[in-house]
Amino acid sequence: CIVFCNGCVLQEKALVMKIYDTLSGKKKVLETRSKNKIEIFVCGPTVYDYSHIGHARTYIAFDSFTKYLRSKGYEVRYIQNITDIDDKIITRAKKTKQAPKELARIFETEYYHDMHELGIHSVDKYARATDYIPQIISQVERLIDKGYAYEIKDDGIYYDISKFKDYGKLSNRTVQQAEDAISRIDESINKRNRGDFALWKLSPSTNSGQTRGDPSWPSPWGEGRPGWHIEDTAITELEFGPQYDIHGGARDLIFPHHESEIAQMESMSRKTPLVNYWMHTGFLTVGKEKMAKSLGNFITIHKFLREHSRETLRLFISGSHYRSPINYSERAVRQAETNARRLGEFKARLERIVQNNTKPSKIADSYRKLFINELDDDFNTPKALAVVFSMMRDINTIMDKQKIKPEDAQSVLAFLDEVNNIFGIIYEQESTAIPKNVTKLIENREEFRKNNDWDKADEIRQKIEKLGYTVKDTASGPKVVKSY
Ligand code: AMP
Repeated sequence: CIVFCNGCVLQEKALVMKIYDTLSGKKKVLETRSKNKIEIFVCGPTVYDYSHIGHARTYIAFDSFTKYLRSKGYEVRYIQNITDIDDKIITRAKKTKQAPKELARIFETEYYHDMHELGIHSVDKYARATDYIPQIISQVERLIDKGYAYEIKDDGIYYDISKFKDYGKLSNRTVQQAEDAISRIDESINKRNRGDFALWKLSPSTNSGQTRGDPSWPSPWGEGRPGWHIEDTAITELEFGPQYDIHGGARDLIFPHHESEIAQMESMSRKTPLVNYWMHTGFLTVGKEKMAKSLGNFITIHKFLREHSRETLRLFISGSHYRSPINYSERAVRQAETNARRLGEFKARLERIVQNNTKPSKIADSYRKLFINELDDDFNTPKALAVVFSMMRDINTIMDKQKIKPEDAQSVLAFLDEVNNIFGIIYEQESTAIPKNVTKLIENREEFRKNNDWDKADEIRQKIEKLGYTVKDTASGPKVVKSY
């Protein structure tokens, strides 16, 4: 592989990658089920409100992780679910006097917009829970047939956790300890065990747990709606089969959600393990608390991006290991902002030197090797990025002395591009090469914004996006960059 070949350089040496697996509690060598192919499923959002930067923490981590695997030559299929039927959606829709489906669609669209703004394009498929109702019903039927699920008259179908001997293996809990985590849909005084969870909840004509008008679908047990955990196994069984490679999400999902997914799928298929690697991200916290809608301590992605660049958020998040908590502070965000800009300035400086160089150079190779070593060790992003910043310091020193050769600048630039394709952390200065029609649109948009005509301003933003540029409204005015 020659040095200038972007994207393939990371494949040049088949290093062994290790990933920490929550189930075994160990770092394990990455071994895929099919040669060179990886199937990843990550729990997506419940679409009843705007996403906040706590959500972004998890989705940016998996976005960069997936991009890294692809840069290593793996063919990755990455699926995320969209929870578009849930108690929270129903409750919010009642408050706003909207149909739950309408509310869910609005926030699903907002979510895609946020992901686009954050440069998250690695997901191959967003799978809506309500598009998998036949698969959900089929899974519930099989669980009843195999003796793992039972019906409570006029209420619903429940999973009997005492029937699955491995229940608790992911979260290290006993069946007894499973009993405190019951959501509204799982409530019923007639359950066999307090920790049993709902697979299918019947509609109000027969069940008081829901109210008339809640979304429902016909089933062999009557009109009703699915429980929370069954949507994911229905999606993954159809898309991947009974077993696949990696399941991810933030650590709050380990119990009861992921524990219950294991119980459902492994008891149904009698195949174990459901996945080879369980990857869980740490929380974005404020003080010592998780950033969460229910605690009111959140910053929406939308609001964050009005004040900062996406590169700032991506660098702020990638600067910590994906399993560690990250504490939010303005100071830390400002530091990330400065660093993202420094990377941009560094890149611009190299570009001025490169010109039409065609000579090869190996100057970036040692940094690249260290970078890969760190990422192969359970995706250690803080250490890998430390290598990039240390390279920036070294090369800047050489450039200060005007001793860099164009081919060396080219080699460093090629490596920086690889880093940026994975992390999206280099804040590039506004380019003078922005086409005139885009510049004109930006000026028009500013006029509308000044006059508080947000709809018109938004229309123009969409036009700019269609032309392949993204506008970012920062404290120092609008910045426009080429979309990637
Ligand atoms: P939700 O929409 O609340 O179901 O969350 C969607 C995903 O974002 C899940 O994987 C959550 O665990 C994750 N998530 C929510 N809040 C945070 C946070 N503060 N830090 C990290 N991940 C989070």
